[in-house]
Amino acid sequence: MSAPKAPVQRADFDQVMVPNYAPAAFIPVRGAGSRVWDQSGRELIDFAGGIAVNVLGHAHPALVSALTEQANKLWHVSNVFTNEPALRLAHKLVDATFAERAFFCNSGAEANEAAFKLARRVAHDRFGPEKHEIIATVNSFHGRTLFTVSVGGQPKYSDGFGPKITGISHVPYNDLEALKAQISDKTCAVVIEPIQGESGVVPADKAYLEGARKLCDEHNALLIFDEVQTGVGRTGSLFAYQHYGVIPDILSSAKSLGGGFPIGAMLTTEALAKHLAVGTHGTTYGGNPLACAVANAVLDVVNTPEVLAGVKAKHERFKARLEKIGQQYGLFSQVRGIGLLIGCVLTEAWKGKAKDVFNAAEKEGLMVLQAGPDVVRFAPSLVVEDADIDEGLDRFERAAAALTKA
Ligand SMILES: *Cc1c(COP(=O)(O)O)cnc(C)c1O
Repeated sequence: MSAPKAPVQRADFDQVMVPNYAPAAFIPVRGAGSRVWDQSGRELIDFAGGIAVNVLGHAHPALVSALTEQANKLWHVSNVFTNEPALRLAHKLVDATFAERAFFCNSGAEANEAAFKLARRVAHDRFGPEKHEIIATVNSFHGRTLFTVSVGGQPKYSDGFGPKITGISHVPYNDLEALKAQISDKTCAVVIEPIQGESGVVPADKAYLEGARKLCDEHNALLIFDEVQTGVGRTGSLFAYQHYGVIPDILSSAKSLGGGFPIGAMLTTEALAKHLAVGTHGTTYGGNPLACAVANAVLDVVNTPEVLAGVKAKHERFKARLEKIGQQYGLFSQVRGIGLLIGCVLTEAWKGKAKDVFNAAEKEGLMVLQAGPDVVRFAPSLVVEDADIDEGLDRFERAAAALTKA
């Protein structure tokens, strides 16, 4: 028997937590599928998915079973030893993708940190220290470590922490001419989100990614796809690069990979991987048996024709209704995105008010996301039931009605 737990409430957050977040007024305590309950027993439908993480909803039986089975066996051994779940997961990712080698870590930022360090290392080994520049895109998001905020380049995340990592430039997204003008023989890598997630759910044009691939090849630069948000079934393909048919040299994954258990992965080829020789990079928890056991179960469920085809069907269901609601209430000028990463662009009249939409939805018992101030984002479970989609969008329509009437 465990000791009784002290009661806590939202107000405690301001007393005991570092104030870098502003969480909602209620505290979720339990979830099942696409439903969540708060402390008062109020039920909400979850179209936020823990920011594109809860890929199979809450408490999916296959994940609960994988986690508890592993919890009774072996939690952690460190990288002084390898472990069975990590090796199985690496095999699965290698079999399912362009990659020949996997590196495991604990978050998206860490996966990108590894990707950027690998790119710099490869260039350093092959061409010398001059070739260290990274080209990223304007409004990109790659995580919150110092290296990753520097690459992301958004001042709101990167300014005010002293000197940044240097050798990084930013070109407008989906603008091949701008990339062509910037890339040089000093470029070691170009990093692109196949869909810009945090800054508005902006899908790349196929020709842009194809052109970036070609430019990288011409300049001996590596193409890195940050698939932290787009990976693991989100687009209806296992990874977005497969949807586009453009193969990167390095791919970062996290978020959906663990379905709610923290894990990140960097995938690459054998020829590149060998530049991270013993001792060059590492992490204590990366490839932890618990995390890898869960990620194995995630891939077993997600990487099936039924689930991936379901994502495409559910996209249509969301899109048709959201466009209708958007038009009826003059709320959205566009509904964009691929698969179950959907962004609703607010009309001029509602520009900057994504937070108001979030609040109105919450009042109706619905969890949605923002992607910047001008876009309402949906990143639900890939196996969200059609009945939950319909009920959730009914709630969303009520929220839209209340908001636009007020
Ligand atoms: C969320 C996100 C990250 C950062 O992942 P963390 O797990 O928060 O470190 C990096 N890149 C993209 C595209 C993301 O959406």
